Amino acid sequence: MTLNNEKALVLFSGGQDSSVCLAWALSKYERVETVSFNYGQRHVIELECRRRILDLIPIQFPLWGERLGKDHLIEVPALSQISTSALTADQEITIDPDGLPTTFVPGRNIIFLSLAAAIAYQREARHIIGGMCETDFSGYPDCRDDSVKAMQVALNLGMDARLVIETPLMWLDKAETWALAYALGQDPLIQLILEETHTCYLGERSVRHSWGYGCGECPACVLRKRGYERYMEG
Ligand code: ZN
Repeated sequence: MTLNNEKALVLFSGGQDSSVCLAWALSKYERVETVSFNYGQRHVIELECRRRILDLIPIQFPLWGERLGKDHLIEVPALSQISTSALTADQEITIDPDGLPTTFVPGRNIIFLSLAAAIAYQREARHIIGGMCETDFSGYPDCRDDSVKAMQVALNLGMDARLVIETPLMWLDKAETWALAYALGQDPLIQLILEETHTCYLGERSVRHSWGYGCGECPACVLRKRGYERYMEG
C-alpha cells in the first residue's frame, strides 16, 4: 500500500475546532477529504452545519474548493446503543466526581480514529487530521496527545501502514485557535466559523452572540465564548 503524501482525511464534525482543522488541511495538502460520524448525538444540527460549511467553502475560498474532495458520512449507531453519555441520551450535563464530563462517550474517539484510518488507508491518504486538544481541556482522556499517538502506533501496526495522525490544535488554547483561523483564512474564515459552526451541547441556535450561536451556558458555549473574548482582547 502506497499512501499519498499530498492527501489528507479530516475528521470534520461541523464544530469550530474541526472547521479550523479543515482550513489548515486545505492550506497544506493538495487533496482533502472529510469524514464525520452519525452516532445518535442528541442534536443532528451539527451535521447540518457541516454540510453547509462544505457547500460554502468552494464559493468563498475557490482555491480550497479545488482541493476539497469526497465527504464520508459514516453511521455508527452502535455508539448510542452502548452509551449512557449526555451527548447521546437525554441526561443532564455535569462533571462527575472523577472530573469527567457526563458528555464523555467512552471509546468514541478511539472508534472514530479507527474508522477514519480504515477510510484513509483505502483512499490512500497519508494524513488524518483531528481537532483533538489537550489545552483548554474538556477532560476527554482520548483527546490527549499520548492517546492519539498511541492510536497512531496501534493503527499502523494493525494495518501495516504509515499513516500520520495530525492534531494542529493540540497545544493551542481557544483564543490561539481563533488566531490560527485568522492566519489561514483572514476575516472570511472568521465569519464562516462564527456564522456556520456549531458548538453548543444543547443544540441551541436561536440567539447570535458576538462569538456565534449557542445557549451561552453549557460548558461548550462557555469555552467558545471565553476563547473568542480573549482572542478579541489580544
Ligand atoms: Zn450551549
